[in-house]
Amino acid sequence: MAVIPVDLAGRSYEVHVGPGLLTRLPELAGPLLRKTAVPVIADANARRHWGGTLDQALRANGRTALWYDVAPGEASKSWSELARLTDWLLAQGVERGDHVLALGGGVVGDLTGFACAILKRGCGFIQLPTTLLAQVDSSVGGKTAINTAAGKNLVGAFHQPALVLADLATLATLPPRELRSGYAEVLKYGVLGDAEFFDWLADNGARVLALDEKTLEQAVATSIAAKARIVAKDERETSGARALLNLGHTFGHALEAEAGFSELLLHGEAVALGMVLAARYSARLGHLPMIDAERITAAVDAAGLPAELAALNFDCDGAALVEHMLHDKKMDAGTLPFVLLRAIGDAYLDRAVALADVALFLDEQLRSH
Ligand code: NAD
Ligand code: ZN
Repeated sequence: MAVIPVDLAGRSYEVHVGPGLLTRLPELAGPLLRKTAVPVIADANARRHWGGTLDQALRANGRTALWYDVAPGEASKSWSELARLTDWLLAQGVERGDHVLALGGGVVGDLTGFACAILKRGCGFIQLPTTLLAQVDSSVGGKTAINTAAGKNLVGAFHQPALVLADLATLATLPPRELRSGYAEVLKYGVLGDAEFFDWLADNGARVLALDEKTLEQAVATSIAAKARIVAKDERETSGARALLNLGHTFGHALEAEAGFSELLLHGEAVALGMVLAARYSARLGHLPMIDAERITAAVDAAGLPAELAALNFDCDGAALVEHMLHDKKMDAGTLPFVLLRAIGDAYLDRAVALADVALFLDEQLRSH
């Protein structure tokens, strides 16, 4: 097992990574569980596969789980689901000093985190991420949110968990496509700040995707440590350090929007292709050697993730994709900062990218093979 500290003044916590952590929950959460009845907000699929394990662990410790089911899917990050959940937490008598458990992927983590941010002006919560994406990304760092008619994640709060237990065993039941999608974010940490990790993934990525225990633990722990370092430097995304985590996300967001945020393109798939596009655009500007852009493309392709925009067969032009970018919540006083690359492992924030030029670049990418 690996333990990664997230150092934040007054709000520090630990992320534990390893197989079988749900079984050890009572021991690892210790005094965070003050009462015998423990509220567990669960993605229905995560509960179906892992609810029994958690139930048993709590029962063996003289406790009971109070289950609250969340329907799988992005639609659960809504005002109505937030209202339903907060009403339920109030009905259970949850107090500020209590800790609510969130079992599932980023949807349940974001919804529960936000509910706990506003419940009685803030109660505690523990993340039990069961998707690779949630383990390496959404469960760490304290961003919580719901979606509204105006867009994704536009209403939310910074609210850090008190503990994160990333049980690697839970990934065994995850659909392979969801696993690969989460792997895109793993790859991202190498590309944006750790060339050595990128090289290591080139050799070990297949073992990670095959869920080889030791390799998987190293990949997840390295990813979380990278995120923890960045979050400790820039918790609220004000200095630009945390913005580097958006590598691949500006292009990716446009692709997701064009696909209507549907199953056609999962978030990680969009980020993977978005990273390729950010790398190729960096190379086009002369900032990144073309060979590095090609290595990134090869890494994305080797993981079974989409690496060619033309292959998506979108019926649109570059200008339409740029138009989607203008609705990105990262828009800042009329400009859109792009995360670009100087090298593998060396990302930077460029606030002076000409969107008309990006549109031309995307036109080329939409046509080329
Ligand atoms: P998700 O929560 O929708 O889970 C993906 C699918 O996997 C769902 O169908 C779910 O039912 C299923 N599932 C979960 N665990 C399972 C398991 N162990 N076995 C079988 N099936 C399982 O998606 P996600 O990719 O985990 O998260 C995406 C969400 O995370 C988005 O809403 C995104 O906005 C958010 N996000 C937040 C942050 C942040 O910093 N807060 C960062 C990245 C993404
Ligand atoms: Zn992402």
